[in-house]
Amino acid sequence: MPAASQPRSGAASTDARRPAADPWRVDLRELGRRAGSMTELDRTLPAPEGFRVELIGVPVGAPVRLHLRLEAVMEGVLVSGTVEAPLTGQCARCLEDLEDTLSLPVQELYAYEGSTTEATTEEDEVRFVEGERIDLEPMVRDAVVLALPLSPTCTEDCSGLCVDCGERLDDLPADHSHDVVDPRWAGLAGKLTPPPGAPGGTNPKEN
Ligand SMILES: [Zn+2]
Ligand SMILES: [Zn+2]
Repeated sequence: MPAASQPRSGAASTDARRPAADPWRVDLRELGRRAGSMTELDRTLPAPEGFRVELIGVPVGAPVRLHLRLEAVMEGVLVSGTVEAPLTGQCARCLEDLEDTLSLPVQELYAYEGSTTEATTEEDEVRFVEGERIDLEPMVRDAVVLALPLSPTCTEDCSGLCVDCGERLDDLPADHSHDVVDPRWAGLAGKLTPPPGAPGGTNPKEN
């Protein structure tokens, strides 16, 4: 089944209900195409999948708050404003769960089909007004993914884990340490205790 080219085929399946409108697709009829007209868009939408990188991201369904300005310009619709979303993830150093909030500015031009921008820009670098709508999801997803840290940390100076016992160093006393025996001598450590009076430091393996 060519599911990829028919994204709504699943929702349409056998029951007669119409698939719910995608809230990330914004109707532009109110804005119109007269350059200079402008509308504000304040909306909280559920996060779709994919707003994440390996260790951190926006949980699916979490509220993504959009404070956007849609402005009709000659070439298309200029979208600018801020995006806020909760984040959950894992500290890259100590693996502790962490929570954070993402707030970032966005700006993007959606070109009208047939505009100069379309003619002069690489196809995969431009977003388009589709009919009377724009789809905000790919734009917001790209901005969010780009802003997420590849190595998030629970605190700015998280010390990570003790390499010997695996405990979080920040939970341990500052002088935490282990009496580490050089692994090459670990097997001999018990046998080498010299009898009282014997000269120390002799390696029995010599000769
Ligand atoms: Zn940490
Ligand atoms: Zn330790």
